[in-house]
Amino acid sequence: MKAFDLLIRSFCRAGQDSVVICPPTFGFYRVAAEVQGAGVIEVPLIRSNNGFALDAEQVLAACSDKVKLVFLCSPGNPPGNALDVEAMLSLCKQLNGRALVVVDEAYIEFTGRPSFTTVLAQHPNLVILRTLSKAYALAGARCGTTIADADIIGVLARVLPPYAIPTSTVEMVLKATATEQRARIAEQIQTLIAERGKLSAQLKQSKLIRHVFPSDANFILVECLDADIVFNAAKSVGLVVRDQRKQPQCANCLRISVGTPEQNARLLQGIAAAENNLKVSA
Ligand SMILES: *Cc1c(COP(=O)(O)O)cnc(C)c1O
Repeated sequence: MKAFDLLIRSFCRAGQDSVVICPPTFGFYRVAAEVQGAGVIEVPLIRSNNGFALDAEQVLAACSDKVKLVFLCSPGNPPGNALDVEAMLSLCKQLNGRALVVVDEAYIEFTGRPSFTTVLAQHPNLVILRTLSKAYALAGARCGTTIADADIIGVLARVLPPYAIPTSTVEMVLKATATEQRARIAEQIQTLIAERGKLSAQLKQSKLIRHVFPSDANFILVECLDADIVFNAAKSVGLVVRDQRKQPQCANCLRISVGTPEQNARLLQGIAAAENNLKVSA
């Protein structure tokens, strides 16, 4: 079962309790809350050219006694940047005894930052979500983990069905996380981070792109002059980028995954060709 589902089912009473989410963010938090009949309170991230920042004060203000869970995605999907550590920690502290702070670290491996697991001991209301779907490229295994105080895990364990993890998944995961594999993954992550820097710098040069947001993830959020043009430019070279225009504060935004050096070069060629076409037709 998905960790968000499990948390919401375990801590939110249908029709009574709520969760706080900070859009633009991962769509599944809302879906899981709505399926459970929990309320969803939105406290938008604050957008600037330096990325999207947590509005800790407003989150705190939104946390009535009906709010049981606060979902923070860091690095954010789709924003790409990691949230301010002090703001997150202060929120944990102030919500202790009131609500759980769920930090979704799906992309933590791409940040160079330590996981929040390192501060778990000081924050009994902190819940950390990790997954093998991204850095380990193991989305097919459907395997992630919830790390929290033993009392929280105890509650979740009573809701989680027995035999929750198939043997085939266990085998796949053990193989993928063996020592030699970890070294290879660490290397891949370093390559990706280097490519991310190069790709960001090159995207900034394009006249079709108005802003490149800073990224701590394996993708880059860009604001285009016209998202359709860049989307189709990627498509014309056989690459798919993610349309984020439905996300709040993300008008004309696309999420571009950092690919292999070859894919990134191909994307930039596609964008350059689209730029030239525009010049010719202008
Ligand atoms: C991909 C992703 C996850 C994890 O997805 P699973 O494949 O279900 O483990 C969690 N949170 C965010 C923000 C993601 O992008």
